[in-house]
Amino acid sequence: MRHDTRLFAEIEARRDNLIRLTQDLIAIPTLNPPGRCYQEICEYLGERLARSGFTVQMIRAKGAPADNDKHPRWNLVARHEGAAGGECVHFNSHHDVVEVGHGWSVDPFGGELREGRIYGRGACDMKGGLATSVIAAEAFLAACPDYRGAIEISATADEESGGYGGVAYLAEQGYFAPDRVQHVIIPEPLNKDRICLGHRGVWWAEIETKGRIAHGSMPFLGDSAIRHMGAVLAEMEATLYPLLAGKRTEMPVVPEGAKQSTLNINSVHGGEAEQETDYTGLPAPCVADRCRIIIDRRFLIEEDIAEVKREVTALLERVKATRPTFEYDVRDIFEVHPTMTAEDAPIVRTTSAAIERVLARQPDFVVSPGTYDQKHIDRIGRLSNCIAYGPGILDLAHQPDEWIGVDDMVDSAKVMALVLADLLA
Ligand SMILES: [Zn+2]
Repeated sequence: MRHDTRLFAEIEARRDNLIRLTQDLIAIPTLNPPGRCYQEICEYLGERLARSGFTVQMIRAKGAPADNDKHPRWNLVARHEGAAGGECVHFNSHHDVVEVGHGWSVDPFGGELREGRIYGRGACDMKGGLATSVIAAEAFLAACPDYRGAIEISATADEESGGYGGVAYLAEQGYFAPDRVQHVIIPEPLNKDRICLGHRGVWWAEIETKGRIAHGSMPFLGDSAIRHMGAVLAEMEATLYPLLAGKRTEMPVVPEGAKQSTLNINSVHGGEAEQETDYTGLPAPCVADRCRIIIDRRFLIEEDIAEVKREVTALLERVKATRPTFEYDVRDIFEVHPTMTAEDAPIVRTTSAAIERVLARQPDFVVSPGTYDQKHIDRIGRLSNCIAYGPGILDLAHQPDEWIGVDDMVDSAKVMALVLADLLA
C-alpha cells in the first residue's frame, strides 16, 4: 500500500506527457504493409528512453520475411538495470499499424485530442498501450529509484503480419530467454480491467481441386474443378461445421461465439481470373481446371493440430469416394499453436491484484480469438509467464476513427506501475 500514493501522484503528474507521447507515436506513420518509418519510431523512442536512463539497442531483423533495404524491419529493446540483481519485467508493444482504410472524420496521423480521447491509426492498437508502459516505467523509476531487478521496454515490428520481423526474431536471438526476462506484459488493447491469458490456435491451408479445361458449350468434354469444390463446400456444411460447433473450450475466449472451433473460408478462386473493372468485354467460355480455397481454422487448446488436419483430409476423402475423377491438394500456409498462461502464474496474480487496487474490482480473465505476439514469446522464447494487458477497446482496432481514452491510459499506467512495484521494489 505504501507505494500506491507516491506512484499514482507520479503518474498523474505525467498525464500531459502521456498524451503528447501518444500523439507523437501516432504521428509517425508506421504502416504495415509495407513497413514504413520503423527506424524513425525506434529512434524517437530510443532517444526518450535513453534520457530516462535506459540502455537502448536498435535491432534490425536481417533476413526476416519482408526485411529489405527499402523497408528494413527495425526493433527497439531498452533495458534499465536496478540497484541490485533481481527479476526483469518486460513490456512488449508492436509499433506497426494497419492501413488507414476509408471512413475517417479526423486526420489518421493527427493524434487529435477531443473530449478525453486521442484519435488516430494505432491509437488503441497499440501506440496508446506503448506510451502507457513508458509512462508507467518512468513514474516507477522516479518513485522507486533503488529497486532491484530490471525493466525492459520493446517496440517491435510486424505484429500485424505475423511478427516474424519483430518478436519472433528477437526471441530467436535470445531476448526472451528465461535467464534474461521473467515477466512479460503485452499492452494490447484488451480493456483496462481484463487480463488476456493467451489465444486459440490457427491453421491456414489452401485446398485445391483439379479438373480439365474444355469449351464451356461442351462441359462434358472437360471436368469442372469448381463443381468439385462445390462438393467440398457442401460436405463442409453437412459434416464439418456441425462437428466444429460441438467442440467447446474451457478457455475463457471472448467473444462468446469464439468459445468453439471455427472455420472461415477466406477466399475462393476458380476458372478464369476476374478482369479489371475497366474491362468492358464478355467473359470467355471455359471449364475451370483449377479451384482453390483458403481455409482459416481456429482451434482450441483441447484440440491437437494433427487431428484438426485429419478432419479436413477425411472430408476430402469422403468427397473423393463419391466422385470418380476427384483430385485434390492441401497445402499448409501457416500454423500457430494455442497458448494460455496459467491463472496462478506470477504475472497474472500480480496484475490481478494491481487492477483490484486501481479499479476496485476483480479483473476478467479472457483469451483472444486471434493470435498475437505471445505465441513467439511462448514457443520460441520458452517464456510462459506472459499476458496481454493494456488500455483501449479491442473492437476499435483497425477501424476508422480509432481512439484511446486518456483516463483509461492513466488507470492502466497505475496498474503497470503497481506491478513493477510488487515485483521489483
Ligand atoms: Zn495489436
